[in-house]
Amino acid sequence: MTGALAADLSRLIGSGSVSADRQQIERYSGDALGVYRAFRAAPRMEAKAKVVVWPTCTEHVSSILKYAQSSRVAVVPYGGGTGVMGAAAPVHDCIILNLQRMNTVLDVDSRDMSARLQPGVVLEDAYAAFRGQGLLMGHDPWSRPIATVGGAISTNGMGYLAAKYGSMGEQVLGMEAVLPDGEVVRSSGVPKPSYGPSLNSLLIGTEGTLGVVTEATLRAFPLPEKQVIRGFDFPDFESGFNAVAQLYAEGVRPAMVDYGEEFWPEGGDTKDGATLFLAFQGFREDVDAHLARSLDICGRFYGRLGDQKETEKFWETRHASAERYRQQVLLSDRPSEARRNRSSYRMDYLHVALPTSQVLNYRKKCQGIFQHHRVVVREWSLWARPEFFSFLILREDDAAANEDPPDMADVVDQVLRLAQQMGGSMEYCHGVGLKLAHLMTDEPGIGLKAAQAIKKALDPNLILNPGKQMG
Ligand SMILES: Cc1cc2nc3c(=O)[nH]c(=O)nc-3n(C[C@H](O)[C@H](O)[C@H](O)COP(=O)(O)OP(=O)(O)OC[C@H]3O[C@@H](n4cnc5c(N)ncnc54)[C@H](O)[C@@H]3O)c2cc1C
Repeated sequence: MTGALAADLSRLIGSGSVSADRQQIERYSGDALGVYRAFRAAPRMEAKAKVVVWPTCTEHVSSILKYAQSSRVAVVPYGGGTGVMGAAAPVHDCIILNLQRMNTVLDVDSRDMSARLQPGVVLEDAYAAFRGQGLLMGHDPWSRPIATVGGAISTNGMGYLAAKYGSMGEQVLGMEAVLPDGEVVRSSGVPKPSYGPSLNSLLIGTEGTLGVVTEATLRAFPLPEKQVIRGFDFPDFESGFNAVAQLYAEGVRPAMVDYGEEFWPEGGDTKDGATLFLAFQGFREDVDAHLARSLDICGRFYGRLGDQKETEKFWETRHASAERYRQQVLLSDRPSEARRNRSSYRMDYLHVALPTSQVLNYRKKCQGIFQHHRVVVREWSLWARPEFFSFLILREDDAAANEDPPDMADVVDQVLRLAQQMGGSMEYCHGVGLKLAHLMTDEPGIGLKAAQAIKKALDPNLILNPGKQMG
């Protein structure tokens, strides 16, 4: 069966673009979600793909999907394999649709302030191409060196500059995509379409379940004439949180907001209080005015300017975790083992969105849940906006206590459900994937039933990335 599938696909797109080799399949089976951190989704991560294909053009993608639809074979799109929710994890007997060879920057236009790119362009290369034309790309995640344009659109990722430029989805002006039945469709690359639902909103953040992005037209911004970055130390989390909320209340728009309080008692980076990093970019007068008002607001909430060298080091090393991931996993001979070893059933890093007025109350309720379950918090943080609230948690395993350790899956579900109940969303950064699919029923939005109806209309045989966010 594998041989027949590979032979059929080779006839469609050429034998050099198809592999049924076990090592190749293993390399592209799964993203950065290690099995231990998958909790309830762990058993579904056992699924094995049958074949990997590397289309080099839109027609290839279209013929693969037409073939898959008629022969009822599942297809899982794969970009850089850096997602953290298992959205690119294989399903049983699937074709892995690896988009890495569609990696051309087609055009960067400084008059239209936009760029057209194929989906497999790595964000770092996109960033460099924008820069080459005196332009800035607005999406700058930790994973810039390793994630792709198509993956970032499909997860609607967030980056360091999201405070000013928005999420990856907000960068998208237009796109070309292949629908699950193989039909090629395009949206225009102008800022406002005439009607809804737009192709862009169908594909942004839907994790490759409704179509495959084969080209994207992204916004470009002027390279900033001036950039400044400042660090502020606050006595406690609440003071800094209130300062960030006040920045927004007074209309201050930093390019970056990165705020956190860390606790690493075994000798990590812990220091008393919390640190806020703010960056400002733009033309000189605008930057100076935003900085002046921010200094005033932070001062009102007991923020004091921090060490400037540390602040600059923070900015310069912001992509270091991606470089480590590249070395430890992507370049490893045994990537799936490396992914598993990096994950832990004791730890999780959660990123919820809440109305600003609910964040501190939510944090307090979470503290109660964590105390009850002997889970400790290593970090509370905000990214980009006061609404985007993250926390890194660790289960305490105290052998001497002679008690069963708490179930991390339960604790994680409790706090994510709490965010939904308090008017928020369970994830603002990484999507849903396999890991959080079981919580979709209560996620506010269009509603799971309506989303599934759209999925069924576009993909009647449910072949495109099945079992992910829409179930
Ligand atoms: C060290 C590290 C740091 C990270 N930092 C950040 C961060 O700062 N911000 C952030 O948002 N995320 C971050 N992530 C998560 C990850 O980088 C993002 O989710 C990223 O957007 C995924 O891109 P990718 O190309 O790797 O996609 P993949 O993981 O390959 O795929 C992600 C999803 O998109 C689908 N997909 C891929 N390409 C296409 C396409 N062309 N058409 C349709 N569907 C497609 C896949 O099927 C899957 O559902 C980080 C991950 C790591 C390992």
